[in-house]
This record gives sequence, structure tokens and C-alpha cells, in this order.
Amino acid sequence: MTKLRFEQGPIRPPSEAYSLLLRVTRNCPWNRCEFCHTYKEEKFSIRTAEEVKQDIDVVREIVSEIRALSWKYGFGGEITVPLVNLILQDPKHDSDGFRSVALWLYNDGKNVFLQDGDNLILRTSELVEILKYLKEAFPSIERITTYARAKTVSRKKVEELQDLRLAGLSRIHIGLETGYDPLLQYVKKGVTAQEHIEAGRRVKESGISLSEYVILGLGGKGMWREHAVETAKVLNQINPDFIRVRTLVVLKTMLLSQKIENGEFILMSDDEIIAEERLLIEHLEGITSTFVSDHILNLLQEVEGKLPEGKEKMLKLIDRYLWLPKEEKDNFRLGRRMGVYQSVEDLSKPELRNQVERVLQQIGSERPGAIEKVLSELAESFI
Ligand code: SF4
Repeated sequence: MTKLRFEQGPIRPPSEAYSLLLRVTRNCPWNRCEFCHTYKEEKFSIRTAEEVKQDIDVVREIVSEIRALSWKYGFGGEITVPLVNLILQDPKHDSDGFRSVALWLYNDGKNVFLQDGDNLILRTSELVEILKYLKEAFPSIERITTYARAKTVSRKKVEELQDLRLAGLSRIHIGLETGYDPLLQYVKKGVTAQEHIEAGRRVKESGISLSEYVILGLGGKGMWREHAVETAKVLNQINPDFIRVRTLVVLKTMLLSQKIENGEFILMSDDEIIAEERLLIEHLEGITSTFVSDHILNLLQEVEGKLPEGKEKMLKLIDRYLWLPKEEKDNFRLGRRMGVYQSVEDLSKPELRNQVERVLQQIGSERPGAIEKVLSELAESFI
């Protein structure tokens, strides 16, 4: 029975789906954002460099064991699909860690994501020690990334960030969420637009790749214009390598739901959120970021591109959706939430359309008038 275990946290960015997940801190030191429930009720703690290094040793042992299994099953040391399936199906390899290392190796074993919410809170020397140990343990690693709060990053000197880069840290994912100060306060993000700008610029100056996350729909019906325009202004001053969007979905476990219940915050419709996304992109000026829509919750996943040259194309893709008749939009929204459509283009594929049409008819007969409710339920199921 395999007893090899190491600690992993609950989440990672979509772009780190095939990365090895290593937990450096537990939960989030802030934990007050009203749209976030990931670490609610969980206490923040820092793991020591020794603890994380022990986990790296465990990963190394698991890697050796998986390679040995590959030889034993006749795959000559290669990590193949049949081998991964054998490992995933074998109850002897009963830890999530064992399975995730197998998948990591299958996906080339080159990327690592450090969990949880704010690893730059560690002393720089401690994080450098972890990064160096990790790189030495696995020389094949090409990319190491982490989440960090802008507030924490803004307290690091550029030289410290450079030390982290030299030790192997390749990218920092920061939740900008919005660049509109009243909204940052309203959702209790605990950081100002100016601090976001300072933190972002520092990361850029250090040579570490920067990914900034924006939440579409966060302004609600009351602040959507300011949210879009002011967020674009902040991004224009940072010029991050990546701008990643994710669409707001509010669960009962999030504090923001109380503001919805008392009528203070009004959620936007899908079309309004897409119009907001359009306004945001329209106002992105003078930057060379790559705009990415890699979250399953985003309605228009195809709205992606490199700025500035990709801007017109992204706006056209948005208009293509906005100009659809209502029935087409409903068909697309449901198909997208069901995972049938990848883009508006898929509406022209009869086999996919018919599949969605059948479900629409079923909803119409079994739950008349409930299409919006079904769409919300589907969206909620993704978080
Ligand atoms: S800083 Fe990030 S992880 Fe922490 S509460 Fe806010 S959104 Fe959640």
C-alpha cells in the first residue's frame, strides 16, 4: 500500500490544470473578499521551508515509484496513458497526491503551481530556499507560478522579486478583480487601485511574468460602467503579460449574497456582462497584454487575443453574440453552460444545436419559464 502523501490546497488557476500543486501556505491571510468563499472558515498558516521541502522529497519518491511501475508494466520508463489509467484505477495508490503526480508527469512534468492564496507573504529568503530546492529536485521544471495579493507584493522591493525570479519563480497571478476604488472597498478587497498599480509594476520590473484577474459582472447593475472603465485604466498603467477574465457567480456561502438578498447589489444579465466586457476591452489602450478568457464560467471563451492587434477581432466576436436574436442567445447560453458549445460559431453545427434544442424543449415542458434559473444552477455547479 502506497503511503506517500504530501499536502495540496483546494484551488489553482485554470491555466495550471496540468501543473504539480505544492502547498506553501494554507488558505488566505486576508480572507475577507465578499465574492470569495474558497477559504472561508479556514485559518491561514505559513508552512515552514522544511515542511515544504519534505513534501518535495515525497513528490520525488512518488516520481521514482511511478517510473518503476512504468518499467514493471512494460512501458520502458515512459509515462503513457495506459500507465496513468492503471495508476488511477489502482486503489493501492490511494492518495490524491500520487494521482496528481502521475498526471503531472504525463503532461511533461514542467510546470509547478505553489498554493494557496498569498505565498509572497513568506520571507523572501524562505521562498527562495523552497524554489531552489524544487528546481534542484526536478531540473526539468520550466515554470513555477503562484498566487499573491497585490497588497503583499507592494511591500516587496523589486530586488526581492528579482531574487525570487532568479530562484525560479516565473509568474505571479494577482486578483485585481476591479480597478475601481469604491468597488474594491465595497467587496472588501483590502487593496486600492494605486496599490494594484504599484504591485503590478514592481512584478513587471523584476522580470517575473504577471497575470491579472478581472471579475466580469463584479460591479453589478450599479457600478458596471465604472468597473469596466477604471479597471481598464489600471491595466493600462500596469501592462501585465496576461489579463484573465472570470465571470461573477455568487453562492449563498459568499458574503456578497447578503447584499443581493437585501436588494443592495443587483446581478447583471449575461448580455449586460458581455457589454461590460466590451467596454473593458474598448478602453484597454497602449498595452501589449494577452487577453485570456480561460474560465469555464465565461460565456464567450473565444474572446481572446494579443493586444493591441487582437482588439478589433475581440470586439467583433462580442458584437457577433450581442447581435444574435434572443432565441439564438438562449440556445447558445444553455449550450455553453452545458458544455456543448465552445464558441458562438458552434451554433452553426446542426448536431450540437439539436442537442441543445431538445434540452430547451424539455425545460419548457417540465419547468416552464425556468430557463434563467436553470442557467444560474448550471453556472453555480462550476464553482
Ligand atoms: S485575497 Fe483572494 S483568496 Fe483571499 S479572500 Fe480575497 S479573493 Fe479570496
